[in-house]
Amino acid sequence: MAYLISEVGKELLSDVSRFCESQIRQKCRSWDETGEWPKECIRQAMELGYHTFDIPEEFGGPGISRIDAAALLEEIAKADAGFAVTLAASGLGLRPVLLAGDAGQKERACGRILEGALAAFCMTEPQAGSDAAAGTVTAVRDDGCYVLNGTKCFITNGSKAAFYTVTAKTEPEAGAAGITMFLVDADTPGLRIGAKEDKMGIRSSDTCEVVFEDCRIPVENRIGAEGEGFSIAMKTLDEGRVWMACIAAGIAQRGIDEAVAYGKLRRQFGRPLTAHQALRFKVADMVIKTETARQMTAHALLKLDLGEDCRMEAAIAKCYASDMAMEVASEAIQIFGGYGYSREYPVEKLLRDAKIFQIFEGTNEIQRMVIAGETIG
Ligand SMILES: Cc1cc2nc3c(=O)[nH]c(=O)nc-3n(C[C@H](O)[C@H](O)[C@H](O)COP(=O)(O)OP(=O)(O)OC[C@H]3O[C@@H](n4cnc5c(N)ncnc54)[C@H](O)[C@@H]3O)c2cc1C
Repeated sequence: MAYLISEVGKELLSDVSRFCESQIRQKCRSWDETGEWPKECIRQAMELGYHTFDIPEEFGGPGISRIDAAALLEEIAKADAGFAVTLAASGLGLRPVLLAGDAGQKERACGRILEGALAAFCMTEPQAGSDAAAGTVTAVRDDGCYVLNGTKCFITNGSKAAFYTVTAKTEPEAGAAGITMFLVDADTPGLRIGAKEDKMGIRSSDTCEVVFEDCRIPVENRIGAEGEGFSIAMKTLDEGRVWMACIAAGIAQRGIDEAVAYGKLRRQFGRPLTAHQALRFKVADMVIKTETARQMTAHALLKLDLGEDCRMEAAIAKCYASDMAMEVASEAIQIFGGYGYSREYPVEKLLRDAKIFQIFEGTNEIQRMVIAGETIG
């Protein structure tokens, strides 16, 4: 995909690469062990603007194409997928504002991100995951405000965000048509952080509940009209899924890099592992799959850059890239043999990190439902 990256993108890529090498690669092992959120390192990344790649130029963003941004995100994911998820999840939290907010909301939200804040996207609820329209968080209009009540769960950046975009039912009996999107500041009275998840992978990212208890937010914080929330959320996820595919490709590429480096050093039957044709073909298949995922992702991103709908392309890219990242991470472990199964080497983490990409932003079963729906009707 290198041929699609601009000159500016290439320069940024070498900066990002240096940052990953000096700040993320060594430390992420300890973040993985402890589940620590890397506050200082995230702060440095934000100072360098690495959480602003997808902010449009008109609102102060870097003005790079999505293809450039994808290459940068993949580079960060190669170092630590959890770190990349933190940055991408902030973009997901901002997206409803970019898609449907008014000019003031866009300016304020982008301004806060550019000043060093993170955002989070709150849709999932304990009883409403794949069936997102079944949520029970409510927003009741009262005296120039909406009063939010209920619990969102599994929220990335849940305890770190400065603001949230939140779906809530303004008309509980109306299903998806009764959902509205809101912008909620983290310091709003009645908003509290609930239980934190202890995860199997992407352990350097923050995932927790966000609870609303008589949380009053001004009417001006509604994004779009009442009842438009579900459609805004689905469009948000269409783009979000493509960024998840980029991160999955980064995990797979790391698996290839590690497997090749190890395979050149490790000798069996008098030759390096990489001299055995069975393993050479294994590596070739890993490369074919990773590059295919990248191309699918690039296709979806190009459509987004052209302002075109990419629901189908995003679902294909996310589904393929995440299934592929699981396969490639597993093959990387296979090439390491027993050492790959040991925590002493970095490849077992890749498999744990890869798994979530088959689950969040719509499971791969849901992606297949989207693809079948677009194809069959
Ligand atoms: C680490 C992490 C971070 C997350 N970050 C966020 C976030 O920032 N914001 C947010 O809103 N959410 C977030 N989520 C939530 C995530 O999007 C949901 O977990 C996901 O959508 C699945 O919902 P569920 O867990 O309730 O599973 P369920 O919906 O209960 O699904 C369970 C299983 O059943 C399958 N299934 C369900 N319905 C069908 C069907 N009709 N046909 C076939 N199979 C079906 C699913 O594919 C899955 O395999 C995060 C989750 C995790 C684990």
